[in-house]
Amino acid sequence: VFSPAQRVRAIGVSEILRITDHANALKRAGRPVIVLGAGEPDFDTPQNVRDAAVRAIGRGDTRYTVLDGSPAMKTAVQLKFRRDNALDFALDEISVSAGAKQVIFNALMASLDPGDEVILPAPYWTSYADIVQVCGGVPVPVACTEANGFRLDATQLEAAITPRTRWLFLNSPSNPSGAAYSAAQLRPLCEVLLRHPQVWVLADDIYEHILYDGLAFATPVAVEPRLRERTLTVNGVSKAYAMTGWRVGYGAGPRALIAAMAVVQSQTTSCPSSISQAAAIEALTGPQDIVAQRCADFQARRDFVVAALNRAPGLHCRVPEGAFYTFASCAGVLGRRSRGGALLHSDSDFCRYLLQDFEVAVVPGSVFGLAPYFRISYATSMAQLQEACERIAAACAALE
Ligand code: PLP
Repeated sequence: VFSPAQRVRAIGVSEILRITDHANALKRAGRPVIVLGAGEPDFDTPQNVRDAAVRAIGRGDTRYTVLDGSPAMKTAVQLKFRRDNALDFALDEISVSAGAKQVIFNALMASLDPGDEVILPAPYWTSYADIVQVCGGVPVPVACTEANGFRLDATQLEAAITPRTRWLFLNSPSNPSGAAYSAAQLRPLCEVLLRHPQVWVLADDIYEHILYDGLAFATPVAVEPRLRERTLTVNGVSKAYAMTGWRVGYGAGPRALIAAMAVVQSQTTSCPSSISQAAAIEALTGPQDIVAQRCADFQARRDFVVAALNRAPGLHCRVPEGAFYTFASCAGVLGRRSRGGALLHSDSDFCRYLLQDFEVAVVPGSVFGLAPYFRISYATSMAQLQEACERIAAACAALE
């Protein structure tokens, strides 16, 4: 009988995938389920990017590349950081992997010793906690209140740091809350970090380009250059260019860390796909207008979903600054009963009720370390969102 290794036993199968699989199974069985679970844009990869990949195949760009990214790819990343963030990185301060997720995995695998702590402002992307555990570290969730915009504040950060703290993760705009930090909001956190030189920062900027209302994007090293020697800035093409399936992400940080990450990558994937790198180069260096257009589309959907949720009895939704998620409170429906008589104790109960009785799949906040909330991914058509929000409102109204 197969028995998984200790390090794998520590983590579960992704709850988001489990819910999505269950919802899709119901769909296949003929039920009209609307799935608002997936964290991927519903747009297609831009045509110029697809063409670049086809050209790469045609010219025989089909071999292993340099371990952590071809020189051309790293140069494209270098250009992106200059253009978008006014940050200058040498090519050996840049690492390219099969998605931002692999960049994060490599960084933790390369840096964590058993028992090292990683501070995760909650709600956080579930994979952070799982990757920390697989790499032998200890996730230290810190609950960020809705009153503080789901942002970590300096006092909380100071209190969470111990001699074992190795990393602080910051994800702005955030999956799942959509909350973003301005430069002014990052500043007090940087001040705390300057007092604790053992703490490194992982800035997950993957939703950089999905930021609304004209807000200016901010990232820790740009706000506080003195953190540069201990910050890994992570980004990728998945969300900005609708390229989730191509698997390209990148990170920039201190040379020694980047070199250690390459060692990890050398024993896993050897290099990112050569064809995907060619596509990503075009995405990063080609015309950028599509990024703003898509952001405007997402903003219209955000406005619609937030307004609809706030009209549903018992729900409350803060206006998120970015990403393509809403993170609404369902505290007002807990303690009530469905018509079938089931008592709703938790956000998981509410999400189960929505799926079973109203055929809408969303993810409970407890999965992201903060309850009682639920996450909607609004990266789907307006028609689907309208129907889903009607069902959610009906579900709330039907509670006794
Ligand atoms: N970081 C966050 C916060 C995400 O939500 C995701 C994807 O859902 C990723 C990283 C991973 O992106 P990639 O497709 O580049 O691995």
